[in-house]
Amino acid sequence: MPLVTMKSVLDRAYKHGYAVGAFNVVNIEFLEAIIETAEERQSPVILSIGEAHFPYIKLENICPAIHAMAAQSPVPIALNLDHGGSFEVIIRAIRNGFTGVMYDGSKLRFEENVANTREIVKLCRPVGVTVEAELGAVGGDEGGGLMSKIDTSLFTDPHQAADFVRLTAIDALAVAIGNAHGKYKGEPMLDFDRLETIRKAVNIPLVLHGGSGISSKDFKQAIGRGIAKINIFTGMSQSALSAAQKFLNTGVEKYHAYPQLMRSIKDAVKKTVSEQIEIFGSSGEAGHQF
Ligand SMILES: [Zn+2]
Repeated sequence: MPLVTMKSVLDRAYKHGYAVGAFNVVNIEFLEAIIETAEERQSPVILSIGEAHFPYIKLENICPAIHAMAAQSPVPIALNLDHGGSFEVIIRAIRNGFTGVMYDGSKLRFEENVANTREIVKLCRPVGVTVEAELGAVGGDEGGGLMSKIDTSLFTDPHQAADFVRLTAIDALAVAIGNAHGKYKGEPMLDFDRLETIRKAVNIPLVLHGGSGISSKDFKQAIGRGIAKINIFTGMSQSALSAAQKFLNTGVEKYHAYPQLMRSIKDAVKKTVSEQIEIFGSSGEAGHQF
């Protein structure tokens, strides 16, 4: 089916108490791995392309492939811009047929974040593009750089979140509750009480960035408190790297070894995506109306 809006995927997940994985696409192997796994699991899925990954993947090249693959797929697929930082990038995403954008004004002052996010909503709503925005600041590096830092003073404030959602009319809110991009230093400690308060204050689907490294028990707690979208990249990247390392350690010398390496990477990424989809509870949810 053609790409569906991110809102339709998120609203259903939020209502029915599961989360949909938003998996980053950095090349065609990752793209195929994500879609094939979603089909095997009969799960809706969100493909994310991060502005941080633009040096590695060109929207104008990969998007036609994404549209073609979605059209042939029986599962609902949304295409999301991950951490778009400017109007220019958002426009480029709309032009390439994205069905959701995450505008990241989290490093700006509250008023400025509100003002910019409102403008983005104004651009996106008439063309049916879902808008996610962030309040508070998720630690670490969006590109999946290796070490994360958690700063509790940057956690999302529930009262401010209520004002933010009311003033901007966004479709989904990314929260900072102890989650971080990249690899966690020690055990992640999520503030579930805060999450519960935010959910009651805003009543729209919530988004957890920095999903790699969080335990399945914590994921389930978070999903029970309004998290409907979980962003995953670092775990996939690590699976790809260890598969590559393992493959190269076998001492292959054959002329066709490179395609085999790509295949082993894709298989490893599929395994990670599959495990996450199972934990998020979205398996078997593809057949409903989106
Ligand atoms: Zn993120």
